[in-house]
Amino acid sequence: MGVQTKFPKTLQELKDIINSKAPSLYISSQTSTVIPYDFIDKYYNDIQLVNLNSLPKKIEIDQNNNLKIQGPVSWQEARAFLSDKDFEIMVSPTEELASILAGLATSATGERSFHFGTLREQVIQIKYLDHQSNEHILTQKELNFPILKEYQEEYSRYKTLKNAPFPRLAKEIDLMIGTEGQLGVITEAIIKLAPKTSTQFLFMLLPKWENDPTDHFEVLQKVQNFRNDVIICELTDSNSFSYLKKEDQLNQNSDVIFFEVLKDSFETFYENFLIDLSFFDENKVFEISAKKFHQIRAAIPRAINEVNTHNKTQKYGTDIQATIKDFKPLIDLYTQFSKLGIAYNLFGHFGDAHLHFNFMAQADQVQEVQSQLSRLYQNVLKLDASPFAEHGIGLIKQKFITDFWSNTQYQVFNELKNTHDPNHVFFPKGYMTLKP
Ligand SMILES: Cc1cc2nc3c(=O)[nH]c(=O)nc-3n(C[C@H](O)[C@H](O)[C@H](O)COP(=O)(O)OP(=O)(O)OC[C@H]3O[C@@H](n4cnc5c(N)ncnc54)[C@H](O)[C@@H]3O)c2cc1C
Repeated sequence: MGVQTKFPKTLQELKDIINSKAPSLYISSQTSTVIPYDFIDKYYNDIQLVNLNSLPKKIEIDQNNNLKIQGPVSWQEARAFLSDKDFEIMVSPTEELASILAGLATSATGERSFHFGTLREQVIQIKYLDHQSNEHILTQKELNFPILKEYQEEYSRYKTLKNAPFPRLAKEIDLMIGTEGQLGVITEAIIKLAPKTSTQFLFMLLPKWENDPTDHFEVLQKVQNFRNDVIICELTDSNSFSYLKKEDQLNQNSDVIFFEVLKDSFETFYENFLIDLSFFDENKVFEISAKKFHQIRAAIPRAINEVNTHNKTQKYGTDIQATIKDFKPLIDLYTQFSKLGIAYNLFGHFGDAHLHFNFMAQADQVQEVQSQLSRLYQNVLKLDASPFAEHGIGLIKQKFITDFWSNTQYQVFNELKNTHDPNHVFFPKGYMTLKP
């Protein structure tokens, strides 16, 4: 059979595909960085890709001022829909073409999670199709089955992080959140919105982290007290800027931390946070428009891909979130990586101590990169940190994840798969099928 793709155009066509019991990967915008769509045939001899993007879609604000989504609505479409309304979406993944329902499957987070938390925390209700194509509604009711108690105890180590090395599984909705489409196909969701607010963007220049991260650590510590005032706190390092067009290189050979601050809180932020920083220099803080910030932030991953294609290098990305106390040991590891003579860059959700360190490896550096990454994950295991805090596990990160599990995770996943996917039709070879 090989790799086949289907494009159901109606809910009934989707149900017919599920009822055919063909092992399938149900996909949306295909922006996942952990599923290798370009060489999926290396992972499967026979697989059916079911592209959900042709299904009918609907977006509305319901009577409780929540966002109700049916079908493959993207973050970009939701933002456009809300542009003339009094509400805004709280989560904002950098890749705006991704689908919101897929964002539930991957437990998406993003820049605004610093202020608003993760998508998971904003979900009121999810509708999904099970292995017999029956529709179910999941709510915030507590999830309960015997072995979950142990699972929850093991989860508690990660409770301050956005996503742990295994899904939360505390409420019914969690059956679909972070489970990457392994238990059913999500068709509808109701998500909380926030009242629209006025904000202001600014950025601050800092020394390059690989030379001296002292100022970075001070910002990270102090900004924790301003989560009510600051929506976004993002780092883009000097290496990341180097891939951009000259007119977008506003970093003056430094690292940059961007802030989005509530207009009403701006004075508090300036007086109590910025001026209070031991290294504060008003000549190194600049205002920037929201449009310019978003343009630069989105341009960086794209520019990295272009540089890789041009230089015939390959990106080996990471997605690690540490607790604030364990951020320093993590940066120490990245500093060691910066001295290997392999191109690299660092950017991401700085306020949440959640950065993407990327190696850009040439063919003869791949082996070295792989061994350094194995070493990295062994060290992450010893820290209070999550190895894959927003992009998920997919197929690519499976080799690193099992060290973060005990027997409990295998047992829970096995039980869930047997109950919800007894015919193994949803995402064959997904992480829930891994064996100890
Ligand atoms: C440049 C870039 C920046 C990114 N930034 C962020 C970020 O800030 N935050 C973040 O969280 N992620 C980020 N990502 C990762 C990616 O965009 C997210 O994982 C996103 O949620 C994937 O959405 P998608 O529509 O592309 O899903 P796909 O790639 O099509 O699918 C991803 C997974 O979801 C499952 N799935 C898809 N639709 C459904 C459905 N309806 N029901 C059940 N399962 C389903 C699939 O089976 C698969 O396992 C980024 C990716 C890129 C390339």
